[in-house]
Amino acid sequence: MIEIHAGPAAEPAAPVALGPSWPMAMWRGFRNRCPHCGEGRLFHRFLKVREACEACGVELHHHRADDLPPYIVIFVVGHVVGLGVLETEMRLDVPLWFQMTFWPGLALIGSLLLLQPTKGAVVGLQYALGMHGFSAIRRAGARPEDGPAQQETETRDGGRTDGRHIGSGRP
Ligand SMILES: [Zn+2]
Repeated sequence: MIEIHAGPAAEPAAPVALGPSWPMAMWRGFRNRCPHCGEGRLFHRFLKVREACEACGVELHHHRADDLPPYIVIFVVGHVVGLGVLETEMRLDVPLWFQMTFWPGLALIGSLLLLQPTKGAVVGLQYALGMHGFSAIRRAGARPEDGPAQQETETRDGGRTDGRHIGSGRP
């Protein structure tokens, strides 16, 4: 147990998350910004999250967005395109070629545009909720310089770990 003495009035054992709120963290991720500081960029390729923030150094590889971002994108784009196809078909006299080209194109472009911001927002939410390895960063009082010291106790389930499983229970 590592005690943090931040000042004479600070309570050392309070497990309070002092970082940004979850809406702010999600908004930062949505804008391709680090959910911790809001300055560094979150992605270094289209859907590849940086190992660590280039501005504040907080480790970002703890995220496990997995299939949630595409699920959300399919849900949103599918409803918009589906509604658009039905409404234009019923209310407007649009030619078939338009229906066969415009809506698939909109679905493709909309999905590509939404996928990275959605994944960023999911990563921001996981950070704000202290999921996976993010919990050590949040517990450290939102100070990234305290992160690596406590991070040795945090491991990902089958993910990128340094092999030091401390207190992980039975194999
Ligand atoms: Zn940062």
